[in-house]
Amino acid sequence: MDKSVIDRRLEQMKAEGVIFETNVNAGEDLSVRYMQRSFDAVVLTMGATTPRDLQIPGREWTGVHFAMDFLRGQNRKLNGVTEPTIHAKDKRVVVLGGGDTGSDCVGTSIRQGARQVIQVELLAKPPQQRSVDNPWPTWPHILRTSSSQEEGCERLWSVASKEFVGENGGVRGVKVVDLQWRGRECSEVKGSERVLEADLVLLAMGFVHVEHGPLVQEAGLCLDQRGNITVDEEAMTCVPGIFAAGDAVQGASLVVRAMYQGRRAAEGVERYLAGR
Ligand SMILES: Cc1cc2nc3c(=O)[nH]c(=O)nc-3n(C[C@H](O)[C@H](O)[C@H](O)COP(=O)(O)OP(=O)(O)OC[C@H]3O[C@@H](n4cnc5c(N)ncnc54)[C@H](O)[C@@H]3O)c2cc1C
Repeated sequence: MDKSVIDRRLEQMKAEGVIFETNVNAGEDLSVRYMQRSFDAVVLTMGATTPRDLQIPGREWTGVHFAMDFLRGQNRKLNGVTEPTIHAKDKRVVVLGGGDTGSDCVGTSIRQGARQVIQVELLAKPPQQRSVDNPWPTWPHILRTSSSQEEGCERLWSVASKEFVGENGGVRGVKVVDLQWRGRECSEVKGSERVLEADLVLLAMGFVHVEHGPLVQEAGLCLDQRGNITVDEEAMTCVPGIFAAGDAVQGASLVVRAMYQGRRAAEGVERYLAGR
């Protein structure tokens, strides 16, 4: 999306009286107690940013990074803040994870001048069209190709990563094996082990839950089994006056869902304040 759309919306919200304060780490720079004392209601929308890690042998080699550390660096460069510390130029890049984050890593690597980009997905390659057990109106599980992937990367499906291979402290490849899927079960294909050469490996395998930092802990928020914040039908957490919405509640998801939840939380806050 063109960033001017976001700028326009920010200006509109400022004109409506919303005050934006950036570079503030809520929970650390602002204590929960201070926020509760100073505001009649608090809405937490800090996303689900704890990345899923891959603890296989060789995880400690330099050159193995979480996707967001790589992508954030590029955003900071584009905003003229700092040069990225992780760069794909002239590197053979392996992206582990076939979702939106992985796709952004593919596009960013190509634009930074990567020598080669391979994207690896654990699950099987989706069909071109809906299968019989995936009828309308359920979400279509079909093969999608993003504009980043169209820029030129090799995509592998049904592939598991077994080890990061390295030398002299730096990663040199990912040992992988093909998988045979039968329904939800899978097994390794004998003799299919091989090493995908790589100087940069980006872990884009999703996010496990909201960060369990001071904001969550100091407030004493209740979490669900997956580690995200639980809310009631009014979007209020188990702490009266503290609401939550978006990925912090539902786990890593989509912008449209976060927007829907944000609106629900706004309605919940309105009813809460009206009833006080
Ligand atoms: C790389 C990537 C690509 C994606 N691509 C797509 C896509 O193509 N389409 C789509 O629909 N969805 C996509 N998503 C998912 C989408 O971005 C999220 O579902 C959506 O942004 C969730 O909105 P949110 O407001 O809940 O959280 P976020 O958008 O994650 O916003 C949380 C904000 O809170 C801030 N924050 C966190 N902790 C604190 C704190 N303690 N104090 C102050 N601020 C804090 C963070 O810096 C962040 O700005 C993508 C996600 C990623 C990571």
